Amino acid sequence: MRAWSAPEVPALPVTGPAVRLFDTSRNDVVEVGAAAAGVPASLYVCGITPYDATHMGHANTYVAFDLLNRAWRNAGLIVNYAQNVTDVDDPLLERADKVKIDWRALAERETELFRQDMEALRVLPPDNYTGAVESIPLVIALIQRLDDAGAIYRVDEDLYFSVAADEAFGEESHFSREQMLEIFPQRGGDPDRAGKKDPLDALVWRGERPGEPSWDSPWGKGRPGWHIECAAIAREHLGAGFTVQGGGSDLIFPHHEMCAAHAQVVDPGVPFAQSYVHCGMVGYLGEKMSKSKGNLVFVSALRNAEIDPMAIRLVLLRHHYRSDWEWTDDLLFDAVDTVTQWRKALVLGRGAPAAPVVEEVLSALAEDLDAPRAVAAVQSWVDATLGVVGHMAETSDERAAEQIAALIDAALGLKL
Ligand code: ZN
Repeated sequence: MRAWSAPEVPALPVTGPAVRLFDTSRNDVVEVGAAAAGVPASLYVCGITPYDATHMGHANTYVAFDLLNRAWRNAGLIVNYAQNVTDVDDPLLERADKVKIDWRALAERETELFRQDMEALRVLPPDNYTGAVESIPLVIALIQRLDDAGAIYRVDEDLYFSVAADEAFGEESHFSREQMLEIFPQRGGDPDRAGKKDPLDALVWRGERPGEPSWDSPWGKGRPGWHIECAAIAREHLGAGFTVQGGGSDLIFPHHEMCAAHAQVVDPGVPFAQSYVHCGMVGYLGEKMSKSKGNLVFVSALRNAEIDPMAIRLVLLRHHYRSDWEWTDDLLFDAVDTVTQWRKALVLGRGAPAAPVVEEVLSALAEDLDAPRAVAAVQSWVDATLGVVGHMAETSDERAAEQIAALIDAALGLKL
């Protein structure tokens, strides 16, 4: 599937430090992407189910992993980035049915809107952008291998994966069995389905139902489950033991645990990913932003209201990616003012010395993507530069603005 256009990223005069991130599976901040020379750092970020427009929770996740992509590149690494589009799944089919539109047309329309949102926010596109429908042969091949390993069983017309087949099951989330049993039904699981060997076993192939799309397979017509889709796409494009599996904290369990379990049964002894990295949730009006609550702030709606996408991006950057926070209109208005102020400083040309700011911004981002610290460093430069404009000191740097503009573009994705 086509991704979106890549923005031009300026090269920086210095190389950034090695990147460290909080890894959910190790419950610690660890160096990520320190691969052998010539081996790219590889990133898989779970993509959208295209049944509705991109809201600020989505934008927060994709901007966070865009900071990682940029930090790796600025540290001199080659990056291989893959992302999926769940372009056939229950919520998409339900929505298509409700609004009386063909599910394929709905998926195409919303995926296109997502591409436009990502371009506006200057998110670097994945190298491999893959839909669930186009990856069905990969899914079937993976289920076949799991079946050969004795990890698949049938319940009526559906196929399930036996979590007991993966010895490492649970090592991604470290949730207790009680926690898993509580969360599983809240996030798409079906623990009470009669005929399952373990309530936590995951659906990998849903047999054909009347009125639903289906594809041929050795087990009869049907469609893929969600976890097997990501496992198959990530293994295909990034290989076993890739660098970072990323997504929102609501994917820690069951989604990322199940993806890992599927892959680890066919690649014994190799973890699905070396690290698992998760973003916080964005709330609005007192609750987590979600379709079911109806409290969504859409990127496209703000763009249509002629809000500068760089101000939207700045609001996200002002929150650490792992924190849960609440979107407010005041945050956006404040970011619009800040962007205006920063532009004023950047057009001056001459300004406060840039080199210490470059070092501070790159260090902040390499240390668990501390974008708020990076933004504060740029703000200090803007304050110093605007403060001395009337009586420009001898020590000011005549190419400072050019260097800061390149820095915030390359490292923070802000083109001002
Ligand atoms: Zn996924």
